[in-house]
Amino acid sequence: MADCLFCKIRDGQIPAKLVYEDDRAFAFSDIQPQAPTHILICPRPHAATLNDLTESDDGLAGHLYVVTAKLAKDAGLADAGWRAAVNVGRGGGQHVFHIHLHLLGGRPFGWPPG
Ligand code: 5GP
Ligand code: ZN
Repeated sequence: MADCLFCKIRDGQIPAKLVYEDDRAFAFSDIQPQAPTHILICPRPHAATLNDLTESDDGLAGHLYVVTAKLAKDAGLADAGWRAAVNVGRGGGQHVFHIHLHLLGGRPFGWPPG
């Protein structure tokens, strides 16, 4: 999508610290980290929010979680624990409208989230 920040990061038009890439997903460090590890994991095809997923996206959605868990393990977070969070829509705290999982780790997390 032409005017999407994360599509531009995917396409190398905006710089970011890319930490993972494959044919279905890409991941990069958050510019304003909320934890010692804060990585954003995105589907390669543009989709604005989780509301846009259909059953045909089963595999892609699962893949995003598998990639997220791999990155958490690679970062040494598996034993201590970590958080995967997806904000959906303005009321859900979403600011960038290209689906992304937040991988957060390296500090304790409370519940419920703010
Ligand atoms: P959201 O609020 O949509 O769930 O999360 C968007 C995230 O994107 C925020 O954590 C924010 O810090 C991050 N972000 C916004 N602009 C940029 C950018 O230009 N580069 C990177 N790496 N992260 C960004
Ligand atoms: Zn996009």
